[in-house]
Amino acid sequence: YATTHDADLVVIGSGPGGYVAAIKAAQLGLKTISVEKDPSLGGTCLNVGCIPSKALLHNSHMYHMAQHDFKHRGIEVGNVTLNFDAMMAYKVNAVKALTGGIAMLFNKNKVQLVRGVGTIAAPNKVEVKGEKGVETINTKNILIATGSEVTPFPGVTFDEQQIVTSTGALSLSKVPKKMLVIGAGVIGLELGSVYQRLGADVIAIEFLESIGGVGIDGEVSKTLQKIMTKQGMKFKLGTKVTAVKKEGSTVKVSVEAAKGGNPETLECDVVLISVGRRPYTKDLGLDKVGIALDDRGRVPVNNKFQTTIPGIYAIGDVIHGPMLAHKAEDEGIVCVEGIKGMPVHFNYDAIPSVIYTSPEVGWVGKTEEDLKKEGRAYKVGKFPFLANSRAKTNGEPDGFVKVLADKTTDVILGTHIIGPGGGELINEAVLAQEYGASAEDVARVCHAHPTCAEALREANLAAYIGKPINF
Ligand code: FAD
Ligand code: NAD
Repeated sequence: YATTHDADLVVIGSGPGGYVAAIKAAQLGLKTISVEKDPSLGGTCLNVGCIPSKALLHNSHMYHMAQHDFKHRGIEVGNVTLNFDAMMAYKVNAVKALTGGIAMLFNKNKVQLVRGVGTIAAPNKVEVKGEKGVETINTKNILIATGSEVTPFPGVTFDEQQIVTSTGALSLSKVPKKMLVIGAGVIGLELGSVYQRLGADVIAIEFLESIGGVGIDGEVSKTLQKIMTKQGMKFKLGTKVTAVKKEGSTVKVSVEAAKGGNPETLECDVVLISVGRRPYTKDLGLDKVGIALDDRGRVPVNNKFQTTIPGIYAIGDVIHGPMLAHKAEDEGIVCVEGIKGMPVHFNYDAIPSVIYTSPEVGWVGKTEEDLKKEGRAYKVGKFPFLANSRAKTNGEPDGFVKVLADKTTDVILGTHIIGPGGGELINEAVLAQEYGASAEDVARVCHAHPTCAEALREANLAAYIGKPINF
C-alpha cells in the first residue's frame, strides 16, 4: 500500500463524466488515477439516478400493462399482483451489475482507483482522505467531475422515508397510498409515474404553469400533461408550497397559488421533493487553489473545459449546461482529448433530452418558444403517431413528431417527439442536427417499414415540402 502516487491525470469523481474521461485518458496513454469517495463507482447516474429510475420505470410499466392492457391483446394472465420487494431487488441488481462493470473497465484499461475524498492541495497535487489515511497524488493534470447534489428545500429536513429526495423515492419500503410530488420536472414526472402505476394516488405540485422542466417545447408539455392526466396522475400547476410538516405517519403540505392566495393543506404518506439539483464542490478545496465558483455554484470553465488554473479542468454537472449523463460523458472525452493536444469541439445545440414517461418524450435543439423569442423565420413539420402504421398496430397511437426547420435554408433547428420509443428515436434527430442536415436530407433517407422512425421521416417531409404521405 503506497501513500504517494504519480499521475498524468487525476479524475476526481467516478460518475458518467469522470469514469468515461478516465478510461479515455488511459486509452490515450495518460497514466490515470480515478478518485472516488463513495463505496460504489458510477456516481449519481448509476447509483441513485438514471439506472435505478429506469429499472423502476420499465418494470412498473410492465406491471401496468399486465394489469390494464394485456387483456385486449388476447393475453390472459389471471390475477396480476405486485411483489414490490422483488421489483426493488431487481433494481438493486441492475445497479450492481453496471457499477461492478466500471471496476472491470478500469482494470482492463489500467485506470488506477484511489478510494476516498479528494482535495486539490495545490495545482499539481491531490490529497485523498480514505479509510486507510491520507494518500498523496502528484499529477500533471486534474479533472474535476464531482457532479451535483439535491437542492435543499427551505425549512425541510429529508428523512428519506416520508419526506424524500429522488434517492429516498428510489428505495421506498412500500408503495405509498398517497404521494405528493413537489416540482413536476423530469424527476417528478418519472418517479411520480412509477408510483402512480404501482397504485399510489399521485399529485404533482408545480410552481410554473407547465410541466417537464426547462427546455421542453410548450406543445409537447401540454400533450404530455393531457396523457399523464388520463393515466391518473393529478397536477396542481401555478402552485407554491409554503410548509411541509410531518404529523405522525402523515405529511401535511401547505400550498397556495404561486401569485398568492387560495391556501390549502394537502395530506400524504410520502412527499417527493424534486425541485432541481446543484453543483457539488464540497471538500475539493477550490478556494485554496484560487478557483472561484460562479453565481450558481458552478466551476467556471472555458471552451476547452479549463478552469482559471492551468492544468485543472472540469466537466459534467459541476459546470454549466444541462445536468445530463451523456453531456457529462461527451465533455469528459473531448476534454481529455484536449489535454492530449487534440481539437476540442462541443456542440451544446445537439444534446438530446429525454423524459422516460410513457410515452417517452425526446427533444433536441430549439423549441418553438425559443425560435419565436429569437424572431427566427421557421417552418413546422408535424406527424402524429396515430398515422404511423407501426405505432397504430402496436396500440400506441398517442403523440407526434414535430420538426422545426429554417424557413429559407430548410436546415433542421429542433426536433420534438412524444410517442412510442421517443427516447430512442431522438438519436436519429441528434445525428441530423449535429451534421447540419436539412429536413429534406432526413426525408430522403430510406427508413425501414414498419417502424415508428418513419414518423420522424414523415415529419421532416412535412417540414420540407409541406405535405407528408400518410396523413
Ligand atoms: P455524478 O454522477 O454526480 O458523479 C460525481 C461523483 O463524484 C460521485 O460519485 C461522487 O461521490 C464523487 N465525488 C464528489 N466529490 C468528490 C471528492 N471530493 N472526492 C472523491 N469523489 C467525489 N441523466 C440522464 O442523462 N439520463 C437520465 O435518465 C437521468 N436520470 C436521472 C435520475 C435521477 C433520479 C437523478 C438524480 C439524476 C438523473 N440524471 C439523468 C442526471 C445524471 O445522473 C447526472 O447528469 C450525471 O450523473 C452527472 O454526471 P457527473 O459525472 O457530472 O457527476
Ligand atoms: P428540474 O429542473 O427538471 O425540475 C424541477 C421542477 O421543479 C421545475 O419544473 C421547477 O419549475 C419546479 N420547482 C422549482 N421550485 C419549486 C417550488 N418551490 N415549488 C414547486 N415547484 C418548483 O429538476 P429535477 O426534476 O429535480 O431534476 C434534476 C436534474 O436531474 C435535472 O437537471 C435533470 O436534467 C436531471 N435528470 C434527468 C433525467 C433524464 O434525463 N431523464 C431524469 C431525472 C433527472
